[in-house]
Order: sequence, then structure tokens, then C-alpha cells
Amino acid sequence: MFGNDSLPSRIYSYDVVDKKVVRISSYDASLLLKQLSLCNNYYNDLVSVRRKELEAISVLRNELYPGYAARNDEIEALNLKIEELFEQIRKQNMQAKKKNSGTKDQKNAIKALKAEKTKLVHQQREQKASMSNDATYVERLSVLNDVYGASRKALRKEYSRNKGLAWGSYLGIEQSQDKRVWPSYRSYDGCGRLCWQFQGGVTWSEACAGKDTRLKVSVKEVAVPIFVGGKLAGTKSKSFTIVHLKYKDTFIQLPFFMDRPLPSGVIKWCYLIRRKVGTKFTWQIQFVVSNGLGFAKQDLARDGDVAVDYGWRKTEKGLRCAYWAGYKDGRFEHGELVIPAGLVDYYIKARDIRSIRDKNFDSMKAQLMAWVDEQGPLPTWLSQRLSGLDKWKSSSRLRNFAWWWSIAGKVEGDSVILKALLDWASQDVHLHNWESSQRKKFIVRRDNFYRNFAAKLRRFFATLYVENSDLAKMKVTPTPDKEHNSAVSVYRDIVSPGRLMQILKENMHHKKVEARNSSKECHVCHKVTELADQVEYTCEHCGKKWDRDLNGAANLLLRGMSCDRKGGENEDAYVLEHKRHASNELCQKIA
Ligand SMILES: [Zn+2]
Repeated sequence: MFGNDSLPSRIYSYDVVDKKVVRISSYDASLLLKQLSLCNNYYNDLVSVRRKELEAISVLRNELYPGYAARNDEIEALNLKIEELFEQIRKQNMQAKKKNSGTKDQKNAIKALKAEKTKLVHQQREQKASMSNDATYVERLSVLNDVYGASRKALRKEYSRNKGLAWGSYLGIEQSQDKRVWPSYRSYDGCGRLCWQFQGGVTWSEACAGKDTRLKVSVKEVAVPIFVGGKLAGTKSKSFTIVHLKYKDTFIQLPFFMDRPLPSGVIKWCYLIRRKVGTKFTWQIQFVVSNGLGFAKQDLARDGDVAVDYGWRKTEKGLRCAYWAGYKDGRFEHGELVIPAGLVDYYIKARDIRSIRDKNFDSMKAQLMAWVDEQGPLPTWLSQRLSGLDKWKSSSRLRNFAWWWSIAGKVEGDSVILKALLDWASQDVHLHNWESSQRKKFIVRRDNFYRNFAAKLRRFFATLYVENSDLAKMKVTPTPDKEHNSAVSVYRDIVSPGRLMQILKENMHHKKVEARNSSKECHVCHKVTELADQVEYTCEHCGKKWDRDLNGAANLLLRGMSCDRKGGENEDAYVLEHKRHASNELCQKIA
């Protein structure tokens, strides 16, 4: 999505201020909406071309290699069998309240199935390799490529010339197509993304000077109304940044607050994104900025190493989201990062509102179902709309039903239930928006908290070591208190380790470190121990007491520093010698 070059790029996002708040000239919303729905149609049309292409490829394969598809089916069947066994084991564990990997028979069965699957996958791979050497197959495949390439070209022409889909947006759609798997269609829900590409790039100062014909930026002082307790209490002057984006022959103007300036670099893309927040739609403007020199901060430390162990755990002090261990000037320092209680409150508030909404929804639904039962046969127009009511899960569905019913028609004896429904619906809209704004506030504050932490680290340490594992598969750190294990997913939601990692990486020069056993290995004696759930741990080999998150961070730090010692990153001899010295010293310090 960042164009052809691989320059370091970053995305900067700003919320477009609602038209009702700031009446700065105009952006033609209907025009933008039309583009969004065109984008969606174009996306789906491309999906159907791709599906036809994939089908044609599979027909071709079956024709030339009849065994290939059959083997695919066999592999799929084996996958299902393996999954079934795992599901069995999971159920056993649930019943026995234990964790184990199944009985001996089950383990052997899984092993055998996996071996069989490996054999087939291997055969399939060899088959594929021989296909790519088969001139007939390759030639017929390239014919298919041409045919479907031509359909795509025709489609692009249709959308750009006849339907008026703007240029940057169709590029964006083409690049967002999922080419690897069987692609699925997207239904249009009013959300989406419009794109502008600036070939050659535009710098912020060029845009501000109005020198570019595609993107201009201006600043405007605007009187914004202030409300106190719901009443208008005057106005306040605020300065807005306004971006003028060229669309066909006009400019679309979008006002937003800019809390910090864009970093130096050139703007390659602008995205205009429409999302649903609560029951309202919002627009967000994003700038993709590229900078060949990277985005290094000015206040980076020149030396020092630090490792951060991500995770989430309830401790006495609060919700721990990370533990860091650092080494600088011959000193070993470490500490935990705890999410401030005030921040968690925003999250809890949003969750509380959610649970109130769920409760209200359940009781409203029950009330309606009771009414339907009492009422006896309903007119078809109403009963059709109500079919499957007991399975309705979303409050927006029930809301839409309420509003629809209030205009669709009357039924004898509906006045009480209809009034209850409408009251519930308007309260739910209010709560829904409140919940969304609370959640948004929480995310903004949490990310700022992480940015501050990252700023402190980068001023003190030059190198950050992070684990090389995939955060999506990250271990779930059990809480010391078993009763609260169900809260783990809530903690994960609050902490979002992936976000913390991303912010740290953006702020610091970082290196990846092998993470295997980094939590199980004792950082003092380097022997692997089986950890129980507790935070404070005494090593069974050397008797040293440590906090398990400190242990994880210290291991990453030691590994990072000694990996550099082996010359893994081609550093010069002086630095290596220094690091070797430091790492030895650190080992002693930690012990
Ligand atoms: Zn030990």
C-alpha cells in the first residue's frame, strides 16, 4: 500500500471534525459516499473475477493431474480428524478440570494422523514442483492469466471511465485484494476507505504553501461553541487544520485538529476512512509519510541496552503490562510497567455500560417475546419480520425493528409494548454512543501512556531487544489467583501487548532475540525449570528468588547482548569487545 519503493513509512491519523461542529466550507458527503459504495462494488467484482480464475486453475489442475485434487481432499479430511481428537481432549479436560494432552491412545492416534498428513503434504509439494516444470501446464496457466488479467483490466476501465471511481481509490482497492486464499465478498455497510496517491510525494510545507495542485493545507481560526451542562455558554476560538484534497475538478475540504506536526518526509498517500463508532459514522484522515532517513527521534540515547518482556498480569500494584530490564554504565536496572488505575477506569466504565446494554437488551427481548406469545396469531407483515426473534443477538437489529414497527402499522393492543421498545431503543442509542466514546478515550490515553514510557526508554537506552515470537500466538500468562483466570482476556484487551510492542519499535532501534524458553530458563544459572503459576519464584537449581517477568526480561537482555557479542550484527570490534565485557559483568551483577 506504500507505493513501489520500500522507504520507511508511517501512517498518521486524525479525526475529521464533524460538520455540525465546524462549518468550514463544505465537503460533499454524498459524493464521498457514492465513491465508497463504488469502491465496495469494485472490490466485489474483482473478487468474483478472482474466484472464477481460481476455479479455472483448479479445473486445469484436475484435468492434467487428477490425483492432485483428490489428495487435497484427503489432507482436508485428515485435518478434520485431528481437530476432532483435539476437541475430544479439550472436553475431557473441561470435565476433569485438568490440563493434559490426552490419553495414550489419543496421543498415538494424533501422531499417526499427523504423520500421514505430512506424507501427503510432502507428495503434494513434489507434485507442485513438477507442475512448474511441465511446459503444457505452465503454458495453459499463462493463458488463464492473460484471460483473467484482461477481465480485470476491462473492469478497471469500466469503473474508472464509466462509473467515475477516483484514481487513487481503485489502486487502493486493487492492492487490498486478498490474493492468497479463496477471497470473500464484502457487504457494504457504509464504511470503507478512499485513497489519494501523490506520485513523487508532497511535503507538508509544499502542501501548506499551496504549491501542490493535488493536496493543499491551510489553517483556520474557528469559533467553536462551548456547552456547559448541555447549555450553550459562549464560543471559543480554536485553530483547525484543513486539508484540501483534489477530487475531479474540485477540492474536498476536511477540518481536523493537529496535536503534533507531521514528521519530516513526503506524503505518498492520503486515506479518508469512514467508520461506525457507536451508532454514528465518523471520518478519519490518514497521511502515509515516507522518509528515506527513517523516523529516528532526536533524543535517542547513544548507548545502553534494554529488553522488554510483554505480558499482562494482575499484581498488588495493579495491572502489569510489561517488565523491562536494562544495562547501562555498568548498572543493571529493571522495573515493571503498570497501567494506571485511572486509565483502567475508562475501560471498566465502557464495559459496565456494555453490560447494562446487554441486560436491557435481554429484558426487552424477553418482554417482546412474552407479548408475542400472549398475543396469539399476528398479522403476516409483523410475524415475518419477527421470525427467529429468540435468536436475535444484536441490539441494533432490535432497534431497527422498533423504529420500523412504529411506522409500519398498528396491531390491536400494541401500544404498551411499542412504547417500551421505542424507549429502550432511544436509551440504547444513547448508551451505545457513550460506550464507544468511553472506549475511544481509553485507547487514546493508553497509547499516550505507552508513548511516554517509550520516550523514557529511548532517552536512556540505545538498543531495545524484543522477542522474535509472534504476538498473536503469545502465551497467556496465568494470573496468580486462579479465580480470576476468566479475567485474563479482559486484561489482554486492556493491555494490548501488540500495541505496546508497536509503539516501542517505532521509538527505538530494536533487535529481535530468540524467545524460546526465555521465561522458563533461570537467568542466573541458565537451567530450565518448569514454572508453576506464581509470580515470585525460587529456582530449583540455584535457589535464587526472582519475579518471573523480571526473569523473562533479563533473559532477553542477556541473550540480546551476548548475541551481539558473537558478532551477529557485524558490529565493529570495539563495540563487540565492549558488549562482551558488559555482558559478563551483567551476568555477575544479576547473580
Ligand atoms: Zn537458577
